[in-house]
Amino acid sequence: MCAARKQDDDGLIAVAGEGRAVALFRLVLAFMLVVMLAFALVEGWRIWRDYRHAFSNAENIVTNLARATAQHAEDAIRQVDAITATLAERLEGDGFDHINRPRLHALLAKQKSIMPQLHGLFVYGPDGHWIVTDQALIPANANNADRDYFVYHRDHADRGVRVGSVVRSRSTGDLIIPISRRLEYPDGSFAGVLLGTIKVQWFVKYYGDFKIDERGALVLAKRDGTILVRRPFVEPAVGRSLANSEIFRNHLPYAAEGVAEAVAVVDGTARLYAYRALSSYPLVVEAGLSRESIVAPWRHDAIKSLAVLLFLLLGLAAFAGVVLRQLRERITIERALHQAHQTLKALALTDSLTGLGNRRRLDAVFEAELKRARRQGYPVALVMLDLDYFKAYNDLYGHPAGDQCLRRFAEVLQQALKRPADLAVRYGGEEFTLLLPDTDTHGAEVLVVEVQQLLRRQLLEHGGSPLGRVSFSAGIAVGDLAREGVTAERLMAAADGALYQAKRQGRDGFCVAANAGVGVAP
Ligand code: GH3
Ligand code: MG
Ligand code: MG
Repeated sequence: MCAARKQDDDGLIAVAGEGRAVALFRLVLAFMLVVMLAFALVEGWRIWRDYRHAFSNAENIVTNLARATAQHAEDAIRQVDAITATLAERLEGDGFDHINRPRLHALLAKQKSIMPQLHGLFVYGPDGHWIVTDQALIPANANNADRDYFVYHRDHADRGVRVGSVVRSRSTGDLIIPISRRLEYPDGSFAGVLLGTIKVQWFVKYYGDFKIDERGALVLAKRDGTILVRRPFVEPAVGRSLANSEIFRNHLPYAAEGVAEAVAVVDGTARLYAYRALSSYPLVVEAGLSRESIVAPWRHDAIKSLAVLLFLLLGLAAFAGVVLRQLRERITIERALHQAHQTLKALALTDSLTGLGNRRRLDAVFEAELKRARRQGYPVALVMLDLDYFKAYNDLYGHPAGDQCLRRFAEVLQQALKRPADLAVRYGGEEFTLLLPDTDTHGAEVLVVEVQQLLRRQLLEHGGSPLGRVSFSAGIAVGDLAREGVTAERLMAAADGALYQAKRQGRDGFCVAANAGVGVAP
């Protein structure tokens, strides 16, 4: 057992080199994987952060745009609101019968000239005919009684200013937004309509000046969703309804301003919108940047970083591959070396003729085995066996037959040994030794008798022996390790002495060393 263990220990030492290489291999592999994973995670996080940044920047841009356009629309309309309020007060106060048309015309013309958004200022009578405008000439038979705003003010008594849907001007052909107000006689009956018109082109130009991507959108709409102005400006879009759009349906009813992603009703483009309801008028502005314009620069960057990352990872993988291959080669070499070592060692401790251990093998384990026995307190038996009349055997049958006989005897010994810790070695020539840990005299005797019986059963003829068959003599020495002074040399000498005695007593038998000056078991 101990012999086996000793070999294992040597093996462990030899394996340690290989084990270290394997551990290093795993370490390098793990390290490379962790590094690569870390790179990928950091890069992934960075790309995600950039994506969020792109959107939060875009949110700021559209929010600012919505604020600016809302302010602009509010200012433009408030000025018209103010002037129509002043005019209404004056007309109603002075009385419609006393209108000084040239003076009023001059006033309207002056107001128009100082308000660039203004397309025209008009005063209509209760039947829709033109009373006075900012223009020098009033077209003959001009009548606006059919206009939507006229019908509204005739039928509604409210005095507030009204922002109408876009119409085409009858006087100039321009697209205009009518800002109108009801005129009343002192008795409260309908006296006509005051109208200020704002050029759609005024907004188009203003919206066009913003530097946003070509798919970006700016919209001015009535609260009911009717589009007044839009960038990019396409005439068919004017008058279309946004009532069913995401923002008008799901956001405006709950908050007067906000940011939302939506697909445009008009052109189907996905955008990030900021919207804002004007505080003083039933109008809404929307400012949107196309999702594509937000994502494209980010995507461009992300692809570049991913390419760099991929390059880096491939480089790392290649590097790891080289290192790991070298390590694997080293492991293979160490393994081969270790095996060669083991083979050499086994060869050095083995008797080539019989396959048993040799004398070196016995020397290698004897001391350790004694130490173990001493520690655990059991006896160790040493048996020396010597074939009888073997010289004569050789002489009679030839050396090769002698070799064959030695092999047969070795097989018999192997067969007789039952315990893994028992060791049989060829000590030299036709001498064999058995090292039997945890075996007392009786046990050793039983074993020797068993060897005798097994050998007899082999029926090995020996013409040179008085017995007529191959036999052996044996000397047994048992060391009681509880006593002092038991050494390998003394045990060997005692067993040798017992063997000599057995030879002298006529061979084909065994003797037990009585007391060879060592602690010999009874
Ligand atoms: P004894 O009964 O006293 O032991 O007589 P013996 O002839 O066996 O005594 P001895 O020790 O004088 O002779 C040993 C012989 O064993 C000598 C040699 O011819 C033979 N021998 C030793 N080694 C080998 C071997 O490897 N192969 C063979 N075939 N014979 C060997
Ligand atoms: Mg001999
Ligand atoms: Mg002999």
